[in-house]
Amino acid sequence: MATTAHQPVRTCIGCRRRVARNDLLRVVAIGKDNTRTVTVDVRRRLAGRGAWLHPDRSCLAIAVKRKAFNRAFKSAVDVSDVQSYFNAADIAGPSGGSMTTVQSESGSEMKMETR
Ligand SMILES: [Zn+2]
Repeated sequence: MATTAHQPVRTCIGCRRRVARNDLLRVVAIGKDNTRTVTVDVRRRLAGRGAWLHPDRSCLAIAVKRKAFNRAFKSAVDVSDVQSYFNAADIAGPSGGSMTTVQSESGSEMKMETR
């Protein structure tokens, strides 16, 4: 019955669906054990333990909420890199590929003084 070609299948750590690896983003934990950062392995060439996630904000949100990253990498990890990747990339639409620089509207700078 199965007509899909035998391509690798991975489980999304967000929605836990098993899908073709090509449909998922690879994320890898880098850094030392107690300060590991999860980063998106865009080229899928980084070494190390990897996990898989749909390029979908809801899957990311579920994964963060369930601490699926911590479980996948067996330690506490910082996922802010992945979140900023999702924010920077136009996940919903077609990939444009170019980065846009954010320009401040006013030249004034706020200075915070801490004591
Ligand atoms: Zn998913």
